[in-house]
Amino acid sequence: MARYTGPVCRLCRRERTKLFLKGQRCNTIKCPVTDIGDRRKRAFPPGEHGRDRVRQGSEYLVQLREKQKARRIYGVLEQQFHNLYEEANHQPGITGENLLRMLEQRLDNVAFRAGWGSSRSQARQLVRHGHVLVNGKRVSIPSFRVREGDVVSLSPKAADLIVIRHNIDTLDRRLPAWLEATQGPNQVTVASMPSRDQIDEPLREQLIVELYSK
Ligand code: SF4
Repeated sequence: MARYTGPVCRLCRRERTKLFLKGQRCNTIKCPVTDIGDRRKRAFPPGEHGRDRVRQGSEYLVQLREKQKARRIYGVLEQQFHNLYEEANHQPGITGENLLRMLEQRLDNVAFRAGWGSSRSQARQLVRHGHVLVNGKRVSIPSFRVREGDVVSLSPKAADLIVIRHNIDTLDRRLPAWLEATQGPNQVTVASMPSRDQIDEPLREQLIVELYSK
């Protein structure tokens, strides 16, 4: 599956908010949308005329930006995201919550939540390179969706990788309630499917549903 390979800070600047796409750098002064005193460094859209771009507050624009924000946070391209929406729409329950739950169930997101990758893109690379096991079997598909009861772990080789050890030691990321640490930091079990209140991303999923249902 293709993925966006351009500069990711541009994506945050486009959304005028921090999407935390670069791991630890996002919490430093180097972040272009970091608050400095009472102003933000470069929290305006990228490009030659980004600073001058007039914000139009149309309903469509607000919905579009929310959808783009969700896509960019989880690193999903448009077609895949639309397919997820269609699937969420056909499931029982609230479509927006179904959509967010399916995004959270992605294997790269689980590796990120477990603190193995400093960002979702790094977690995705760990999965791609075969460092993550599901129920003891190597799974190298970042969009693989975990289910209740699945045991997700690092391969024995990955558990010794400096980058992963460093992330586990320094990130100190708290597991969401739907994941349980079993046998130390190298293994998590999916205790339940994530509910909306356990997903801490600042997204208004209802706007995404409104956009797609036009
Ligand atoms: Fe770049 Fe991270 Fe700041 Fe986003 S939050 S602009 S990815 S440093």
